[in-house]
Amino acid sequence: MMVRVAHIPGEGLAKGLGVTLRHMLRKSDTQQYPEVKPDLPPRSRGVIALVEENCTVCMLCARECPDWCIYIDSHKETLPAPEGGRPRVRNVLDRFAIDFSLCMYCGICVEVCPFDALFWSPEFEYAEYDIRDLLHEKDRLREWAATVPPPPPLEAGAEPPKELAASRAPRPAARPAPAARPERRGEPGAAPGGARAAEAGTPPRRKPPMTMRDIRAIRPPGSLPKREGPKEEP
Ligand code: SF4
Ligand code: SF4
Repeated sequence: MMVRVAHIPGEGLAKGLGVTLRHMLRKSDTQQYPEVKPDLPPRSRGVIALVEENCTVCMLCARECPDWCIYIDSHKETLPAPEGGRPRVRNVLDRFAIDFSLCMYCGICVEVCPFDALFWSPEFEYAEYDIRDLLHEKDRLREWAATVPPPPPLEAGAEPPKELAASRAPRPAARPAPAARPERRGEPGAAPGGARAAEAGTPPRRKPPMTMRDIRAIRPPGSLPKREGPKEEP
């Protein structure tokens, strides 16, 4: 059975005025933006900053971005070969752009970058009147890097980062130099006195080149195999 509650006329109005009165007496939480900048947590996702020097153009971020809003162009450059080495080929970044009109701020690109080239900055004041201006090219993304806050301190009792622990670890003692191999007589470049001459500080003497006489002494002219003449027709 339904019980009907009688409403007093003007009850709703009195309730509303009561709420208004309560809020009038409370301390206001309104932030006076833009006069007062908000105090954002350091890990806020405002804009993505690029540290160009760290980027190796591995394309991981562009491939993993679910919105396909990262554009990368590059070319290959051959570095001159170091002494005794081979020339190396490296990628040179020509273009790196992020379209923030498509970005959904998921942070995958920052997470997957294996070379610490992308960082979150809490800066958010880059609204534009034209949506096309939300495409930030390499130079603009570089500028955001100056606004990236330092990493927050570790919690009490947390393990230090492995890189820091490795840099603080005592260095292993230098390996003793390998013992010099005793030289054998007759080896190219061996000193006449062998290891003893090397110990005495005498520079090893080169074996003189063989003359025709030396060669004939090994194989006299008569012992040379006879040349076969042109075969006669039967
Ligand atoms: S935050 Fe997400 S959507 Fe935005 S560029 Fe990075 S991967 Fe793409
Ligand atoms: S994942 Fe990092 S290193 Fe690779 S292309 Fe993107 S920003 Fe450059």
